[in-house]
Amino acid sequence: KFNTDLGQHILKNPLVAQGIVDKANIKPSDIVLEVGPGTGNLTVRILEQARKVVAVEMDPRMAAELTKRVHGTSGEKKLEILLGDFMKTDLPYFDICISNTPYQISSPLVFKLINQPNPPRVSILMFQREFALRLLARPGDSLYCRLSANVQMWANVTHIMKVGRNNFRPPPQVESSVVRIEIKTQRPQVDFNEWDGLLRIVFVRKNRTISAGFKSSTILQILEKNYKTYLAMNNQMLDDETVSLTDIVKNKIETVLKETKLSDKRAGKCDQNDFLKLLFAFHQVGIHFS
Ligand code: SAM
Repeated sequence: KFNTDLGQHILKNPLVAQGIVDKANIKPSDIVLEVGPGTGNLTVRILEQARKVVAVEMDPRMAAELTKRVHGTSGEKKLEILLGDFMKTDLPYFDICISNTPYQISSPLVFKLINQPNPPRVSILMFQREFALRLLARPGDSLYCRLSANVQMWANVTHIMKVGRNNFRPPPQVESSVVRIEIKTQRPQVDFNEWDGLLRIVFVRKNRTISAGFKSSTILQILEKNYKTYLAMNNQMLDDETVSLTDIVKNKIETVLKETKLSDKRAGKCDQNDFLKLLFAFHQVGIHFS
């Protein structure tokens, strides 16, 4: 009956379902977005507390079941179901996001929330345990990766509870965890794509030195192209026509890595300040990542 390709693992334990909803501290004035409501085990509980619930569900059978479930209840008028793929759906305003997330969209879901023009006050999200631990990992931890560094730049993440696989039907292969994500209201004054672009380079292999990451010819080509665009947009000419653009970009990279003293450090050990220092130093010399 359940389509596990769509990550359909229904949360059967009512205590866990209630626990998740209660952790959101919903106010009676709140609009809650739910991703993948399924048969509605979380939805009916959210409806008891919120002003409105917008639920995005991709599977029409699930949407039909949920419609039937709330029919004739006091929650019926408060529920709006958007049928479709969450990743392709334009979202209305919402205060809170709650999701027992289909694991295929874990990462894109987090970034879609972070990049909302009005990000939610709080998000309570169930993920596979390992994904949750990656969100929480700190520099030097074995699970620390681009995802950790990226999400922690824009949001504060805390672990709320572990949820064993037997709380679901059918049980998934792995254990799960619920996390709280609070997107920083003072958004760092850094362009998301520039930040992400730098992290993509240094985290290709997190145990390799930063300077090794910048030796890849594909990456050098991209940075050279970006530098050309930068020069054109700023109406700048090359100071010295005898040096090739490739060498100019290589020299700039070398200088930045030397001056920031991050050349021999490994991304897996770098914290946010290290990456910010790198990014600002690159920007100072006109090197851009998007
Ligand atoms: N919230 C329910 C619960 O806790 O029992 C169901 C959770 S189940 C893990 C995930 C739900 O998300 C399924 O109903 C599935 O059909 C839906 N889904 C999967 N991919 C989706 C997507 N891209 N957009 C919207 N819904 C999706």
